[in-house]
Amino acid sequence: MAENIYEKYGNKIIDGKRIAAEYRAEIATEVAAMERKPSLAVIIVGEDPASQVYVRNKERGCAEVGMTSLLYRLPTETTEEELLRLIEHLNADSDVDGILVQLPLPSVRDGGSGIDEGAVIAAVSPEKDVDAFRAENVGHIMLGDAQLLPCTPAGVMVLLERSGVEIEGKRCLVIGRSNIVGKPMAMLLLHKSGTITVAHSRSRDLPALCREADIVVAAVGRAKLITGDMIKPGAVVIDVGMNRDENGKLCGDVDFDSVAPVASKITPVPGGVGPMTISMLLRNTLTAARLRGKK
Ligand code: NAD
Repeated sequence: MAENIYEKYGNKIIDGKRIAAEYRAEIATEVAAMERKPSLAVIIVGEDPASQVYVRNKERGCAEVGMTSLLYRLPTETTEEELLRLIEHLNADSDVDGILVQLPLPSVRDGGSGIDEGAVIAAVSPEKDVDAFRAENVGHIMLGDAQLLPCTPAGVMVLLERSGVEIEGKRCLVIGRSNIVGKPMAMLLLHKSGTITVAHSRSRDLPALCREADIVVAAVGRAKLITGDMIKPGAVVIDVGMNRDENGKLCGDVDFDSVAPVASKITPVPGGVGPMTISMLLRNTLTAARLRGKK
């Protein structure tokens, strides 16, 4: 991606960094007015470098909006029983509002003890599940009455809303069907009355599906998969992907240089969806604190 994209593409760019900062400032104002501050517990198992960065950013985000964060660093070889015991303890701690276990957990190959992620997700009490990963919370996303929102898809919705993108009646293509991004993304767009297609690794003719879409949300994990010739002129393109290109540089699923001239709006990577995800985690922690009676 060129260095001067903000100069070159001006108001086409959905500036996630700026919108996320505004959003966090609004949360900070709400938190400042509370007598008891929301509190987020973050558990990290092992030494995965990307996870270390994410956890540090979550701690920073909490500090920025005036929330308390509690960080639990556990060694790589931590057993499922030990992790579940800590989660139980945090479930019972009345001051803790949100519990987040940083995924992925270390694999056996990396020296981990083979902890079952499903068991860990299910152990967090539903009202403290600030990632909205538990089946109950996923059900609420489906029903459209979720209090705790899926962070990345909800962040995309804020970006669309604050950029004045209309969803009602639009053809929306979500590329990717994961439980944390693709599926809940499709649901949130559906609740706003978009006409939704979900593409995935077995879909046929992805370029044709793309060319029909007014809004494309790419959440695949393949560097520069979506190119300008696949995009309908004037479409809005949201890039959730976080990949490394051939030079080891961070890039999305969208080939920015060829798509930006065709799209009407586009999120860059970095500086697009990523910054919103943490902001939505903070929003969920504030919501959880309020639902648990903190004022
Ligand atoms: P995942 O691996 O769980 O899912 C990828 C999906 O892409 C699958 O459903 C698969 O069917 C689909 N897919 C694979 N190849 C495809 C192809 N050729 N055509 C169409 N679909 C294809 O990944 P995920 O957890 O959903 O994450 C997706 C990307 O988003 C990754 O790059 C990840 O790093 C990034 N991500 C970013 C944020 C953020 O905050 N910015 C948050 C979560 C994930």
